[in-house]
Amino acid sequence: VWDSCLQYIRDNISEKSYLTWFEPVKAVKLQENVLTIQVPSKFYYEYLEENYIKIIKSALTKNLGKDAKLVYSIMMEKKQMTEEPYTVNIPSSQKAKIQVQEVDAPLFVERGVKNPFIIPGLQKLKIDSQLNTNYTFDNFIEGESNRLARSAGKQIAKRPGGTSFNPFFIYSGVGLGKTHLAHAIGLEVKRLQSGKTVLYVSMEKFCQQFQEATKSNNRNDFIHFYQMIDVLIVDDIHFISGKKGTQEVFFHIFNHLHQSGKQIILTSDKSPVDIQDVEQRLISRFKWGLSTEIQVPDYTTRLAILKQKMEFDGIELSEEVLEYIAQNIKTNIRELEGSLNSIIAQATFNKKEITLELVQKTLDSLITNSKKDITIDFIQKLVCDYFKVPIDLLQSKTRKRDIVQARQIAMYFAKKYTNASLTSIGNQIGKRDHATVLHACKTVDNLFETDRMFKTYVDDLNKKLASNI
Ligand code: ADP
Ligand code: MG
Repeated sequence: VWDSCLQYIRDNISEKSYLTWFEPVKAVKLQENVLTIQVPSKFYYEYLEENYIKIIKSALTKNLGKDAKLVYSIMMEKKQMTEEPYTVNIPSSQKAKIQVQEVDAPLFVERGVKNPFIIPGLQKLKIDSQLNTNYTFDNFIEGESNRLARSAGKQIAKRPGGTSFNPFFIYSGVGLGKTHLAHAIGLEVKRLQSGKTVLYVSMEKFCQQFQEATKSNNRNDFIHFYQMIDVLIVDDIHFISGKKGTQEVFFHIFNHLHQSGKQIILTSDKSPVDIQDVEQRLISRFKWGLSTEIQVPDYTTRLAILKQKMEFDGIELSEEVLEYIAQNIKTNIRELEGSLNSIIAQATFNKKEITLELVQKTLDSLITNSKKDITIDFIQKLVCDYFKVPIDLLQSKTRKRDIVQARQIAMYFAKKYTNASLTSIGNQIGKRDHATVLHACKTVDNLFETDRMFKTYVDDLNKKLASNI
């Protein structure tokens, strides 16, 4: 049959192409309507699929009928037969299947390797898990804010895929430990069961890989690769929002893994219900297992984290200093660590001892530089509260003097404490244009210098805002 196919192909393509691409191909098996051909390498297989699939199909149909199927068997460079052929389904060309029959070197996916989706040869898939060994359970301080997530993570590490926490969905604001915990689970799995294939990937990287795979026609290898993981950790899954193609492919991988009892761990900056622009069928799967929130750590936890970090860095700080930092940096742990680093840097740079005074100064300047945690909304509310003006009046067109003043102060603080543009400040505070906002800022600056009462207001509000960062 293959000979007749070859004849047909030879008649329809150039002799040179024929000799290059078809001469080395051998038929190895024919079973009913399924023909198995052997190609010298994966490259041949891809090249044939890409460039000659049409002609191969018509040759097959001619000789085997409409339901003809083709199976590729790929000879790998180094010989060593494994017993079970490896089968990959290729949805793109429906009928084709590829079998990798031999493989010798285990597949290593190295850090930084662009496209790790080589058809894995075998039974034993060896990959670099991309885990950060600094993020362990040992140094993940337990506190009220993360107790549930941490303990679920530990249980999962003991029996990946074997608990009802599948997927395990961890969500929180930034810098609260999602990534750390996700790595800790992965590392613990490897420590307890070295045979398990664990892979950590950020959704951002997953998207990139998928795009590259699509471009180079390796989509199926990509999917296949992910379907072979025992514990798949996808960090920052919310990054998938709005990306249809990636959602589709992730859906398939998710289903496959979940059905085969493999563990899936996801982290996100929002709960499953609050994620935007993601297909409903995916969202509903995110909710199948356990979703837990990591909260902002309380004072005791913050202090414990600081102490651990100091010990790790081999630094000593007085209790007083540590307490001061833990009291003042409340938003998240990354910032807590950042502050500690700045203080140490300041002290080293100025060859000064770390005194409470130095800490206060450093933190003060850090605080004024960090604008991101105060929103325009928050400022408006605070100002309205302070002047006892209803917020809808502030938002209205009224030119009553008191209201105008409150509105201008709100604009001034929005400029000072947020990174919003003048236009966007104007938009949010009573639908004014950017010139109005600019004018407001100047007015406040002027009055601040000339009007004592006004200065008191602004100072008061300033203190309130600063203490909220
Ligand atoms: P997220 O992924 O939620 O943005 P990360 O996991 O990157 O946050 O955490 C930010 C920093 O805080 C990291 O350096 C991490 O090691 C540290 N961290 C977070 N939670 C803890 C914890 N419970 N104990 C010790 N360090 C923590
Ligand atoms: Mg993270």
